[in-house]
Amino acid sequence: MNPSQKTSALEHLPAVIRGLQSATDATELLQRLTTAAIDLTGSASASVLEFDESSNSLRFVAVPWFWQELLKDFVVPLDESIAGRVFVNKKAQRIQNVTKDPLHFKTVDQITNFTTSSLLAVPIVYRENTIGVFEVVNKADDANYTEEDVITLEILALYAAMTLWSSKLEKQRKSSLQEAAQLDRLKSNFIGITSHELRTPLGLILGHATFLREIIGEQYREPMETIIRNATRLKEIIESLTDVDNYESGVARIRENTISISRIVNEVVSSFQDMAASKNITLSADMQDNEFQVEADANKITVAISNLIRNAITFTNEGGQVQVKVGSVTGHVEVSVKDNGIGIPASAIPHIFDRFYQVESHLTRRHTGMGLGLSVAKSMIEMHGGRIWVESVVGQGSIFSFLLPMHPTKPKPSEKAFTT
Ligand code: ADP
Repeated sequence: MNPSQKTSALEHLPAVIRGLQSATDATELLQRLTTAAIDLTGSASASVLEFDESSNSLRFVAVPWFWQELLKDFVVPLDESIAGRVFVNKKAQRIQNVTKDPLHFKTVDQITNFTTSSLLAVPIVYRENTIGVFEVVNKADDANYTEEDVITLEILALYAAMTLWSSKLEKQRKSSLQEAAQLDRLKSNFIGITSHELRTPLGLILGHATFLREIIGEQYREPMETIIRNATRLKEIIESLTDVDNYESGVARIRENTISISRIVNEVVSSFQDMAASKNITLSADMQDNEFQVEADANKITVAISNLIRNAITFTNEGGQVQVKVGSVTGHVEVSVKDNGIGIPASAIPHIFDRFYQVESHLTRRHTGMGLGLSVAKSMIEMHGGRIWVESVVGQGSIFSFLLPMHPTKPKPSEKAFTT
């Protein structure tokens, strides 16, 4: 053994490892690792094999470029190969004459037209899990692989382990994202089809029930009112589903006009006074004596504000307070609905605007609702180029706020005369 050659591999190792850091992806990094292994151990070839759970075998993930096509789909059985034995026993192996080993897997040599003589293989281990094997073959001049070659390959195998593991995680992440996107598509299709199919029969029920209410006797008026009230509620749910779906699929339409946010807030606040009074809740509005005009669809903004106020009253205990404020911040109108109700846990806040999300499970909750109000409000605000958010502390209350781009202020006649 040549002592000067012995130190040179370890001397080169830090520079080689630094060079690996410029690799742009896992494939390139593994390729560079095999080149480094060839150089540092003085071998003819090197390969990285990864364990494939589905076939319970090893597969080549990095080999010299001239063998890549030949070996890319090749399967190395665990029980009929030296690499398999290293993988199963989790122990490095140095073999001087491979042909004498009964587990030598000759097929690879036949395919690549290569004759393996000596071999060094180490397991690739990540957090106690063996996930592959790193091999070098045919040390130059028929020399034996040394203890130092083992250490060198084991260090490179650590890098291979991290690379294989992170690329496995990346693959899992991508496939989970694809699955989630597919589920979301299915959900949207289901919602779209169901709400479309329900709308027509429900319209007929409501139409006929409203007609019958006018002609039936007083004794049937109350049950008829119940039918109409509940059918109207179903219609609202279907409309909410359709609204969010239209917004998410980009087909939502808005009828923009110059509208006064202060006026809409006043109207909505008035319409909820009875509901607030039934819980002895004080519902007030603070407008700063300004119209706060925006270019928007009045119906959609009304729905958004209504949903926030309805929730504030619903999730505030008897005797509480709900305050609606309208103000302006840098070219935007800001509306906030503040309550001193039950509040929202921090863990729920990132999901609160998701469709069908409810903090309490539908089995235990005392309130009605389908988890649609906030997602509808979000759609309505975002389709006007606005933004909605919440700040909340459990036991203290919540503030739901949104911003809408303000209508550019038209100069008053007197100002106009002055400036022209
Ligand atoms: P729902 O119609 O079921 O109330 P929303 O989308 O309007 O659905 O609200 C989702 C959930 O967010 C509610 O179930 C409730 O748990 C929580 N939430 C909404 N507004 C408030 C609020 N002002 N205070 C506390 N929790 C709230």
